[in-house]
Order: sequence, then C-alpha cells, then structure tokens
Amino acid sequence: MDIIANLQHVKSSLPSRITLIAVSKTKPESDILLVYKNGHRDFGENKVQELVRKYENLPKDINWHMIGHLQKNKVKYIASFISLIHSVDSLDLLKVINKEAIKNNRVINCLFQIKIAREESKYGLTKEDTIQLLSADEFETFKHIKIIGLMGMATFTADDKIIEQEYAHIYSIFTELRDKFFIDKDYFKELSIGMSGDYKIALKYHATMVRLGSNIFGERIYN
Ligand SMILES: *Cc1c(COP(=O)(O)O)cnc(C)c1O
Repeated sequence: MDIIANLQHVKSSLPSRITLIAVSKTKPESDILLVYKNGHRDFGENKVQELVRKYENLPKDINWHMIGHLQKNKVKYIASFISLIHSVDSLDLLKVINKEAIKNNRVINCLFQIKIAREESKYGLTKEDTIQLLSADEFETFKHIKIIGLMGMATFTADDKIIEQEYAHIYSIFTELRDKFFIDKDYFKELSIGMSGDYKIALKYHATMVRLGSNIFGERIYN
C-alpha cells in the first residue's frame, strides 16, 4: 500500500478548487505524517478522543475536520483547535459550540449535516429542520459560529442513480438555503459531499470538499 502514490493519484483526479480532506480515522499517526510531509494539511476524524490525541501528537498547522457525530459534552475538547465541524445537526449543539468558541476567543466554522441517505443510521437534518433552525431567534445570537455550508453522506450502494439523486437533492437544498438565508454572506459556499466510492459523482453535483479515506490510506480495519 503506497499512501503517497494513492494521494497523488487522487489529487490528479480533482480540480484544484476542491478541498481534499484526507480521512485518517483508525489510521496511525505515522500514516498522517507521511501525507503531511507531502504537503497535505487537511485531515478528517470522526471520534473526539482519537482526534484530540492526534492533534496533540502531530504538527500544529494541520487543519482538523470533525466529520463524525458530535456529542454536546465533547465539544469542549476540540473547540480550541478544530478547523471545521462538518456534522452540526441541532440547535442545542450549535449553542454549545458557540459557548465553547467564546471561551476560546475564536469563531468556529461549521457545516450543517443534511440527511440525504436512505439508511436510518445516518445522522442529519432535513431541509425543514434546517430552515426552522436558521429562522430561530436564537440563531442570530451565535456570533462565534460561522455556517459556511452543508455536508451530506449518500446511501452506501452500488446504484449510482441513487447517489446522483441524493447529491442533486443536497445541492438543491444548498442553493435554496443560500438564497434564502445567506444571500449577503459570501462565506456560505462549501458543499462537503463525496467519499472514496462516490466522489466522482459528487464532483458533478458541485462538491467543494471531498472526504476520502480508504482510497488514500487503504481499507480500514475495525477492532
Ligand atoms: C469514514 C468517512 C469518510 C471516508 O470514507 P471512505 O469511504 O474511506 O473514503 C467520509 N466521510 C465520513 C463522514 C466518514 O465517516
């Protein structure tokens, strides 16, 4: 498994405007360092404890992306350094992120995770939930949060048609929310869609960020 060859191969298939997030969950710090030494700076993790350990042990100019479900009581562990939280799925979570951002004297960038997949197991907001959240009076008070776009995970399926529908759907939600709530905010511009198996489809549906794990680091082994 040649991680650098994989990285270069993936990069050559991405337009330069796309942010590649190397998803390093379950992988050793030595693998991350290899990719880092190749000039890559954006890495994604889905578990707070693992993310914090890697943050502490690795170079401080890495941009860490939280891509997994985030519990409110764990926000405090990542608030000082997290670069982008992809998985915001409630007003209560936003409230806690804002509070922790204030404590750390910073603004934390976030994406709303939209549920587009058919699987029950996948987290996220519906379009209606998101509209309700953005319309809440309290949302206006979150001065230490910047919502810079949306994240979605497609159904795990070999049927490209389903994935196409789901990515088309999140793009339509993205444009609707942008026009309704962020028309004067040029920072609402990120669409984090696309994993190893489906990122080429995501590119057709206006992905700005892709989150790739196994086609850079190899298959994951869970214990
Ligand atoms: C694990 C994970 C990825 C990367 O998955 P691959 O199929 O290995 O590319 C992307 N996004 C999220 C939210 C993940 O949990």
